[in-house]
Amino acid sequence: MKVLVINAGSSSIKYYLYRMPESEVLAHGLVEKIGEETSRLSHYCMGRTHTRKQRVGDVETGIELILDTLADPDVGAVERLSEVRAVGHRVVHGGELFTGSVIIDAAVIESIRKFADLAPLHNPHNLAGIRTTRRRLPQAVQVGCFDTAFHATIPGFAYLYALPYDLYEKHHIRRYGFHGISHRYVARRAAALMHKGKYDINAITCHLGNGCSLTAVKKGRSIDTSMGFTPLEGVPMGTRCGDLDPAILFYLADKGYGINQLKTICNEQSGLLGISRLSNDVRNLQELAAAGDSQAALAIDVFCYRVRKYIGAYAAVLATVDAIVFTGGIGENAPMLRERICADLIQIGVRLDPDLNAAAVAREAVISTNDSPITVFAIPTNEQVAIAKDTYKLAAAQMGDTPSEGCIERPAVEKAARR
Ligand code: ADP
Repeated sequence: MKVLVINAGSSSIKYYLYRMPESEVLAHGLVEKIGEETSRLSHYCMGRTHTRKQRVGDVETGIELILDTLADPDVGAVERLSEVRAVGHRVVHGGELFTGSVIIDAAVIESIRKFADLAPLHNPHNLAGIRTTRRRLPQAVQVGCFDTAFHATIPGFAYLYALPYDLYEKHHIRRYGFHGISHRYVARRAAALMHKGKYDINAITCHLGNGCSLTAVKKGRSIDTSMGFTPLEGVPMGTRCGDLDPAILFYLADKGYGINQLKTICNEQSGLLGISRLSNDVRNLQELAAAGDSQAALAIDVFCYRVRKYIGAYAAVLATVDAIVFTGGIGENAPMLRERICADLIQIGVRLDPDLNAAAVAREAVISTNDSPITVFAIPTNEQVAIAKDTYKLAAAQMGDTPSEGCIERPAVEKAARR
């Protein structure tokens, strides 16, 4: 079965065409700089690269371009688009409703639209992708895979903010968590590498990329995560501040900072960029720090310290930890930061092997010593294959083909109980 995976954001769309269940990538690519004059498509198929510079004004146009390219007689991967039997969409926010991947129907579309209020920068673009592929590929089963779904098992005492309970009831103010597709993928992968069942592992998964979040995984299920109501909470990120004393915002508002200015500061001017004043990219910061730039070194210090603090907190929450997993652009490629984060974690059972750690760049590896009580992994994330697998399972079940095991791995989320 040919399964198309679409990850549509505001400025770019990534896509992968898989043959399932083999998980073979037939083609993949990227439309970038959507809305700018310099937008372009890069398409990879059968060892060949095809680039097309063309103004792409919005997500709908980008998806049209992708579908036309996939069916192009010269560079495409299918003869007819009807060969694509299922499309899996990454959707950022599934609110409290979606605890796993689902087949998209009109009711699901309406819910994703409703949750756009909670994720205004993401859900509308995800929806635009869904609408376009439904129109162009009417024969295909459409599946939504939610970034929030893996965190549906977080208990009420962990997802509630200590605000008046009315705000949760009236405005759904609670912690949702994000990067769930990635956390689930690497937790399952670590379990497999340790020869454990997927519900038989306690792990702390660290997705450290442009956006960064950590998750406490108990018996294969998320029980806490560092991002909250929005992807702003938690550890500092490339340009986002992470956890703050909320009174800082009131204080700055009193000093005359407007709400939009504060949003920009917290989302776009903080984190590694804010502290270093130089860059949000760890590669640049490492070079600058090595050349003696103290501000770049300070940004890395703050980042590593705050990640370590969350690992400590999640070790307390989990009581026993089998594995710590590093993933995402930083987690996969920056041994120096992994070393800094893991320094002083000997007390909780982390012994990094310096050589294994240094050698593990952009590849799956154990980076702890043989006698380390906690096994530490670097595992490249693969959200697209996770989406393709969920999509295949649901589509095959709907078509009456083999896999009938659904992708909803958990009971529906409990409402926060007054305990
Ligand atoms: P996104 O969250 O947008 O998917 P990525 O997971 O690709 O982003 O992470 C991008 C970040 O990863 C970069 O900004 C950079 O800080 C970091 N990164 C990527 N490659 C390296 C590398 N070789 N060494 C250190 N950091 C890296």
